[in-house]
Amino acid sequence: MKKNNIYFLGLFLTTAFVSVAQQETREQQAKKTEVWTPVPPVITPADKPGGAPSDAIILFSGDSLSEWVSSKDTTKPAGWIVSGDVFMVNKPAGTIQTKRTFTDYQLHIEWRIPKNITGSGQARGNSGVFLGGWGTGDEGYEIQVLDSYKSETYVNGQAGSIYKQHIPLVNVNRPPGEWNVYDIVWTAPRFNNDGSLKSPARVTAFLNGALVQNNVEVKGDTRWIGTPEYHKHGPLPIKLQSHGDPSEPISFRNIWLRPL
Ligand code: MG
Repeated sequence: MKKNNIYFLGLFLTTAFVSVAQQETREQQAKKTEVWTPVPPVITPADKPGGAPSDAIILFSGDSLSEWVSSKDTTKPAGWIVSGDVFMVNKPAGTIQTKRTFTDYQLHIEWRIPKNITGSGQARGNSGVFLGGWGTGDEGYEIQVLDSYKSETYVNGQAGSIYKQHIPLVNVNRPPGEWNVYDIVWTAPRFNNDGSLKSPARVTAFLNGALVQNNVEVKGDTRWIGTPEYHKHGPLPIKLQSHGDPSEPISFRNIWLRPL
């Protein structure tokens, strides 16, 4: 074949290709940006709002605190007071924690300040959810539980706060006697082999359906006195706080978690 002929054949083929490409339908073009894998796992939603989806770990749904132990002695039962689908803090028994440990997760937990609550500020229905905790007391990362319905305290210590670190975006507390609902997304901190911090923990939290913490960066442990610090750890239990204030004990119910 002569050189000229090859040239014209090449030109013809190129023109034909371009012509075919131009004839692609809009549907064919749209398909190029469709993704079909990986397919998300199918889970079953709860039959009512606030219920656990089918892949959740049930940490308390009534009758038994079998998923919990005493933080003072993790070989001992939690020792808080179960009554039907509710359990109440038993302050002398101390803080309790999950038997299981977790890294990143979605948590649902409901809490109620008793109608007859007394006291003021931090001494009015104080408890807390340690999103990861260690030790026998208040060591860990606490999102506050407290009566903050028309009750004042320092704002980085009211209900919905990451204790002493992040003020909640709104005060959306229900009055004593009614149930409050937390839905929380926890991203655990990561550490380098030498113990230094690789990435801090992050929290997103809803209280009674309203956003109170929007992907905030946790600065370290949520201590009462002093500056937060990080110390290397792996997966941690969730702890519920027995606070030393003399006010009437609060209650919890419907606790479930989805590891992420
Ligand atoms: Mg507390």
